[in-house]
Amino acid sequence: MDLLRSVKDQTDETEFYTPLPDGYKLGATRYVAVFGTVMSGLGKGIFSSSLAKLLKDKGLRVSPIKLEGYLNIDSGTLNPFRHGEVFVLDDGTETDMDLGTYERMLDQNLTGYNFTTSGQIFSAVLEKERAGGYLGRDVQMIPHVTGEVKYRLRNLAVQSSADVVFIEVGGTVGDIENAFYIEALRELSYEEGDGSVMFVALTYVLSPPSLGEQKSKAAQLGIKRLMEFGIHPHIIACRCENPVTDKVRQKISVYTSVPMRRVFSMHDLASIYLLPQQMREAGLDSEVVQLLNFGGKVNSAADARAAVGWERFTSKIGKHANGITIGITGKYTSLRDSYASILKALEHAGVACDAKVEVKWIDTTDITSDSVTEVLCGVDGVIVPGGFGVRGTAGKIECIRYARENKMPYLGICLGFQMAVIEYARNVCGLDEADSTEINPDCKTPVISILPEQKKIEGLGGNMRLGGQDIEIEPDTIAAKMFGATKTIRQRFRHRFEVDPGYVETLEQAGLVFSGNHPVHPIMQILELPRGVHPYFIAAQFHPELTSRPLNPQPMFVGLVKAALERHAAQE
Ligand code: GLN
Repeated sequence: MDLLRSVKDQTDETEFYTPLPDGYKLGATRYVAVFGTVMSGLGKGIFSSSLAKLLKDKGLRVSPIKLEGYLNIDSGTLNPFRHGEVFVLDDGTETDMDLGTYERMLDQNLTGYNFTTSGQIFSAVLEKERAGGYLGRDVQMIPHVTGEVKYRLRNLAVQSSADVVFIEVGGTVGDIENAFYIEALRELSYEEGDGSVMFVALTYVLSPPSLGEQKSKAAQLGIKRLMEFGIHPHIIACRCENPVTDKVRQKISVYTSVPMRRVFSMHDLASIYLLPQQMREAGLDSEVVQLLNFGGKVNSAADARAAVGWERFTSKIGKHANGITIGITGKYTSLRDSYASILKALEHAGVACDAKVEVKWIDTTDITSDSVTEVLCGVDGVIVPGGFGVRGTAGKIECIRYARENKMPYLGICLGFQMAVIEYARNVCGLDEADSTEINPDCKTPVISILPEQKKIEGLGGNMRLGGQDIEIEPDTIAAKMFGATKTIRQRFRHRFEVDPGYVETLEQAGLVFSGNHPVHPIMQILELPRGVHPYFIAAQFHPELTSRPLNPQPMFVGLVKAALERHAAQE
């Protein structure tokens, strides 16, 4: 190992190549790597975030990382219809929706260090090659590409001062695109030494209805595949519809030499938030503590407190006295993953308000002023979420008009904020041609547009305004009440267009209130209608759903659910 420690650059004298970040101590950090076998979609992110949470509860510092197989540099260019929503971190990194699961489960803000893609790895290696960083050697998958992977994992350990780094390997074992990640983790385990790196295989036990029994063969073969890479799992977690039988666990244990007490049934649950409890009851967390030799570091009192707090939250899931329906207008109406954070934020707010929130998806493509009443019939509140492009915008504006005129609670998010401004400008201020230049580049009254002078101030060129920004809240507004005494809040943005300040006075004189603004520049960030005018009409240029946490629900969603409950009760 001493040799490894000194080998920062590969020379002709050695075949070792392990670039270590400054300040890194080999063997001081623990790593838990989670692989998926048999098939994708098993919930690796949910599994590893729940396990990380259980270790965090015990007083350990944890930091997760997702290793994506795709070649895109980030998730910003991915179609949410295919890949789920783009989750934006406070530092502006555009990531996979799994990072949202980690942030919510851990109640912890993450950064770009917590996310990497093959594209990032390869471009770093190629950049280094062009700069002559490999000293005349041929650049290879092993050790150079794997070296870059290990460097990033260790750099995350340094940056986050984590006791444990949780690594989620994207895709399924056997995919060509994640093979070098698996190899890098084998090398990591070898270099860090015994007891430093723990491997978990998340697998799937089939239960074909025609057979009426559980089958373990696919799981066995999947784990064998992992062992071909030189990785022997310490823990096997079996996803299954129903609890995995002892017989099947025994089979898996025999074929993989993983003791029975480390082969866990991770069967389906009513909510992902029940998983930490399921793991705790199965003793998975204590096995991990033992395997990583953390016994002396565990704070049992903190752990017990965290378990009680969490169970107080989960015990309310699905057991609500009241029910409401929130309509969400969305282009990607067929895929729930495209709006994952909004659904989670509604779930958090529902628990806080003791309400079961049903969602009605509303495709706005064909909505007109004639059909809108029928479409929104039975709905207690409306969300117009973020989006890009023209499709369905006229229908969204119709829904907003209906909500405003009929005192139906409304929450607009990003595009939903911009559409609310257009609706108000057209129907209240009488600016018939009001529009966004995203929808109509030649429009005569561009209340929403890209303002070059503002972009210059923000130093962003024509790019997207991304990540956490401060918002100053106007006193004596709904926003001020909602966000408590804090005058300045921080929320996450992902947009290009904004309200043209030239129209602000007109809109305000007609009664629209801009209750949250950029601290220095005239960028409108929250709008609302006063309580006397409308029970709940509010919209944000940012994405409030990205910062909602189970035990700390986002106030704008809580406000929506509360107002929807009141409307529902009044109509009964
Ligand atoms: N398309 C709009 C913009 O770029 C809204 C973006 C969004 O809703 N995330 O400003």
